[in-house]
Amino acid sequence: MLELQRDLEQVRKEAMTDGLTGLSNRKAFDAAIARVIEEANTEQKTFTLLMVDIDHFKTFNDNFGHQVGDQVLRLVARTVIEGVKGRDIASRYGGEEFAVILPETSLAAGVVVGNALRKAVATKDVINRSSGEKLGRITMSVGVAEFAPGEDTDDLIERADSALYTAKHNGRNQVAAAPAPAK
Ligand code: GH3
Ligand code: MG
Ligand code: MG
Repeated sequence: MLELQRDLEQVRKEAMTDGLTGLSNRKAFDAAIARVIEEANTEQKTFTLLMVDIDHFKTFNDNFGHQVGDQVLRLVARTVIEGVKGRDIASRYGGEEFAVILPETSLAAGVVVGNALRKAVATKDVINRSSGEKLGRITMSVGVAEFAPGEDTDDLIERADSALYTAKHNGRNQVAAAPAPAK
């Protein structure tokens, strides 16, 4: 019985984990953000969402191949995990996009975290595992949005995404903050 329980727990955990990076997967992210929004609404708490996207990842993939691309994804995932703490939830949102939920964190504090993550990634060399050759550095752009009371998941993600687009548009390797939604 105990063994069965452990197996079930293991299966449940795997269903919530991204196989490549070990981060929470999209399914886990969806559940987590619903939970955090619920908590924010009932307890009048705030939180901030970061949407992170690797810059020119396609070029990196095209130049060095899919395996190096995967290595880059793991490098970014590791850096993000090392850069957040406590109740923060880092997930792989999709291909080369990551989402980070920062409970009880303001927009300004979220921008600070976003910049710290961005800088941590930008200073790491990507190294070819077999040859030891330095392949260069990668950068990422970050969109930050603070939850606005009453808004739903889609609205919040859309604001963070649109801030991310601003960061890309303004030259990448930077963080952009979303304005509060129009009332
Ligand atoms: P931008 O700076 O505008 O974000 O440019 P980009 O090249 O990063 O963006 P784009 O969306 O054009 O390309 C994303 C690429 O990510 C496309 C695909 O080759 C790559 N990709 C997505 N998922 C994976 C994956 O799991 N492994 C690898 N190796 N590559 C992936
Ligand atoms: Mg992308
Ligand atoms: Mg990209």
